[in-house]
Amino acid sequence: MKNERFPKIKYLWMFITEKCNLACDYCFYKFRDRRTTIPFKVLKNIIDFVRNKPMPEFVISGGEPLLEWNLVKKTVNYIKKIFENPCILIQTNGIPLDKEKIAFIKKNNVKLEFGIDGDFLSNARHRIDTTKENYERIVRNIKNSIAKGVPVSSTLTVHPENAGNLYHNYMHLLSLGIPRIEITPAAFERWEDKEVRMFKAEYLKVLKHEISSGNLNNISMEYDLPLNGFYIDLIVMADGKVLPNWSLLSLPKDVKNLYVFLEVNKNGIKENNEVLRKLLRYYKTLFSQKNVTYRDFSTFNCEFVYREFSKIRKDLNPEGYYELNRFLKKINQPLMIYNQFSSLKKIYKTKKHSKNMINEHIKIKEGYAVISINPEIYSLPIIYSAAYVFLDKAYIVLDKENGKITAYLKPKENEDIRKLAMDFYNELLNYAHYSQRVKENHEITKMIIQRALFSTDSTITQDIEEKEIEELLKELEKEEDEDVKEIIKEIEDENKKGE
Ligand code: SF4
Repeated sequence: MKNERFPKIKYLWMFITEKCNLACDYCFYKFRDRRTTIPFKVLKNIIDFVRNKPMPEFVISGGEPLLEWNLVKKTVNYIKKIFENPCILIQTNGIPLDKEKIAFIKKNNVKLEFGIDGDFLSNARHRIDTTKENYERIVRNIKNSIAKGVPVSSTLTVHPENAGNLYHNYMHLLSLGIPRIEITPAAFERWEDKEVRMFKAEYLKVLKHEISSGNLNNISMEYDLPLNGFYIDLIVMADGKVLPNWSLLSLPKDVKNLYVFLEVNKNGIKENNEVLRKLLRYYKTLFSQKNVTYRDFSTFNCEFVYREFSKIRKDLNPEGYYELNRFLKKINQPLMIYNQFSSLKKIYKTKKHSKNMINEHIKIKEGYAVISINPEIYSLPIIYSAAYVFLDKAYIVLDKENGKITAYLKPKENEDIRKLAMDFYNELLNYAHYSQRVKENHEITKMIIQRALFSTDSTITQDIEEKEIEELLKELEKEEDEDVKEIIKEIEDENKKGE
């Protein structure tokens, strides 16, 4: 199959070494020899393979990739040599990091993702070989990286046994200053009903905290973003074989080999057309559905990964894990809609609009612009919002007579009064549009959150009740109300000064 006929590559994952300084019991890369490291020439060939395609995101992982620091440096330098502004992420357990490595990472605009499950005890329980000393080292390295301006995130893997501590551990990671945390249920563990319920309840606590603190960006929800288009991942193992899904790394070598569709060595790349054809057929069907997310095609959720697992792990009961993935997708998508809407709001607050208003409602009298406003078109909160934007430029008086509202604007500086008045009208329109979007999005958000919460699990329905969801929604609206109150107060204060 020719390179040009490949679908878009979402991530090029490079699992450059099988060596690791920890031995986590939930490790996704269980069947590995813990010795093999990929030669640079092989990595170079796979990077060359993607160079004429839309640029993927690059992930350097392991084992523990920082144990092969020279190889990491060469790989980063090579990617940067052939791609403009590439997005490169290194996944690490944080132990081998030091000042020199942080400086290189910062200089090259590379992101760091730390695998850390919360406080020391939670880490030590499943990330075997974690000691007090190396835990403190990880924390120090996280703080140093953030202080140096490296974009840092972390993955918080939740083991079923630790589900009840999810909120506590999340708050612990936030207290370390980590700005973005990906919460993920451990994939290859047995999730019983009780643990599934516990995970959901704790995750909701995290969401409530984030909503009330007004920063949903702390939680990474990218796995739940609908993907536009037809994607594939390249998962390069340390032996140069390439898989389509990182969850397959957890399988024994002979099963993994069934899904190897590319083999890279020092001389070039060999394609296994038969496997590739089957995979592309599978992905085409998957992506013909609506709202396919990265979570749907890249994890243990994936149909063929599940099929292989169910053959070799009869005890696994993946239903609990799937239930959690469905829950995360359903709850995270509406929140992302809300989050995107919040950004939209900020843009509206600062954007300058084109000046195409007719000025028939504007009169200029004795140094004032007298603007007459129809309250059936522009409500009072909209007028207050528009007036607020003009506080720096003009003294403003609002009056109501014969059912019409009149705004009197007197410029503070030597401004063109007519232009000022026309800009004011544009701002009214701007806020009217914004207000309409608030209503529309509020209904959509409410509907989707309710559906998400009530349809994922009947026990959640019993536990949480409508009242609690209303509270969640009120938190979302609180910011709106406070904005309006603040605007009204500032206009009143400003008017008093101008009297
Ligand atoms: S640090 Fe990562 S690669 Fe190493 S054992 Fe733990 S999960 Fe596996």
